[in-house]
Amino acid sequence: MKYITREQIRQLASSETVFYRGMRYYAAHAVSRMTWNGSSGQYRALVKGGSQYVVTIEEEDGEIHYTCNCPAYVKYSGACKHVIAALLFISDYQKRKTQEETE
Ligand SMILES: [Zn+2]
Repeated sequence: MKYITREQIRQLASSETVFYRGMRYYAAHAVSRMTWNGSSGQYRALVKGGSQYVVTIEEEDGEIHYTCNCPAYVKYSGACKHVIAALLFISDYQKRKTQEETE
């Protein structure tokens, strides 16, 4: 997957408020059990909120596709706070990996 920037994540969010809520979720370690499926090229994460939701993220032709099974995902266009939290997790993970590789 290509390097995901914070700016990109902000643009995917359904609103500015949702983006900040997602940041709070990420900071509160709401993202757990991130897994990567090499054959389907898909990330899968569990994100805890009021309930626990399943987020999937994949990239196709440079575009990021995502799903979440929360009510907001169905209701609004754009990424929900769970997807935002998971994207921030991946973004930081990519950053760490890049640093390790260049060191
Ligand atoms: Zn959601």
